[in-house]
Amino acid sequence: MRLRPRSVRARLTLWHAAVLTAVVCAFSMGIFFFVRFRLFDDLDARLGRDLDTVERTWREDAGELWEADSRAGIKLFEVVETGKPAYRTDGWTSAGLGAAPQPPGAAASSWSTASGPSFRIRTASSADHRISVAVDESALRRTLRTLALVLALGIPGAIALAIAGGYLLAARVLAPVGTMADRALRITAESLDERLPVENGADEFGRLAAAFNDTLRRLQDSFERLRRFTADASHELRTPLTAMRSVGEVALHDSLDPAGYRDVIGSMLEEVERLTRVVESLLMLTRSDSGRLQRSSEVVEVGALAARAAEHLRVLADEKEQTLRVAAAAAVQARCDPALLRQGVVNLIDNAIKYTPRKGTIEVAVKRLPSGEAAIEVSDTGPGIPPAHHERIFERFHRLDAARSRSSGGMGLGLAITRSVAEANRGRVEVESEEGRGSVFRIVLPAD
Ligand code: ADP
Repeated sequence: MRLRPRSVRARLTLWHAAVLTAVVCAFSMGIFFFVRFRLFDDLDARLGRDLDTVERTWREDAGELWEADSRAGIKLFEVVETGKPAYRTDGWTSAGLGAAPQPPGAAASSWSTASGPSFRIRTASSADHRISVAVDESALRRTLRTLALVLALGIPGAIALAIAGGYLLAARVLAPVGTMADRALRITAESLDERLPVENGADEFGRLAAAFNDTLRRLQDSFERLRRFTADASHELRTPLTAMRSVGEVALHDSLDPAGYRDVIGSMLEEVERLTRVVESLLMLTRSDSGRLQRSSEVVEVGALAARAAEHLRVLADEKEQTLRVAAAAAVQARCDPALLRQGVVNLIDNAIKYTPRKGTIEVAVKRLPSGEAAIEVSDTGPGIPPAHHERIFERFHRLDAARSRSSGGMGLGLAITRSVAEANRGRVEVESEEGRGSVFRIVLPAD
């Protein structure tokens, strides 16, 4: 069975406790063996000094050996000469050290008696004699046992503390996540203006909350745009329908002659025409939004295309006695969808004619920019557009002067379509205009 707790808090605590256990165990073992090594090292050094003292005394005057016993306080030693014991302290005999095995060489070794006390013995041998000294190491062993006990009891205590501390700490650290989750659960389409709390924008949770808030803001924007779009579209569709209905009701109520009925049908068809245009434009924009715009790609002679579009609309300009000029540089080519591009250009020229007063001038110019891009420019001597509106006129249903646009047949979708057409052909639309100074609209297509 694999132990894998569900909550991050429990997992963090477990990991923390596991790592701490490993560290505390390793550290405790390190301390124990270091202390043990140091204590025995000191003891062995003392034995070495004792051995020197006994050996020196024995060399100088064997009869004085007992003095080493009493003066230097060396209680446990034995001198063996040619295989026979020459001197033994009382302590040596009473501790039963005669039965202890002699450590080989100069190394010290421990020996425990059956009754309990434990001794550390060190020996120095030469051809004719052997000296052994010993010291009681029971106190040292007791100290080591106490140390081991303290460590063994301390480790579980430290681990228990680590688990409790880790659990509390994890709770504190993870608290913002819980708050964020609670708040996020309460956010619905109706409350997209709510935001997650950001306690500290610089830490990881703060950055997560900020990123989430940013996503919420963008969602709210698109939701708002969609809502506005739906409201505008419904309004745009309702107006012709209302007009048709009132014209129809009047015709039903009054008995008209055939010419009167023809007029009614004519004005109804006009409204149907308007409805059709709105629906087609909306369809095109929706397709372009979802990337389902059918787009061909071929090398197009842009000048010729713009000239044809202008000729198509010349009759409208003539009606307003406007001058419509086309200045197309030869051989400006671009790779694009000609039908879509034509739609964009027609929208620009149509706007220019619509918003420029009688006897004004409209110029369509096609040129290659220094950057290598192809540009189709439509300039007019109309009322111009204040800079504050330059970005917004490309939004759907945005009109500078709604009443006037409506009377001239505008629905506020022409420029939105031009922009999506340009973008579908990897290009862009720009506007340069000031109020009262005419306008220049430019479709820019990338160089091939
Ligand atoms: P519409 O169908 O109302 O013309 P558009 O999207 O084509 O919608 O244009 C949006 C708005 O931008 C128009 O309502 C108009 O106020 C303004 N506009 C567009 N072209 C021109 C122009 N050449 N001169 C002045 N205003 C313009």
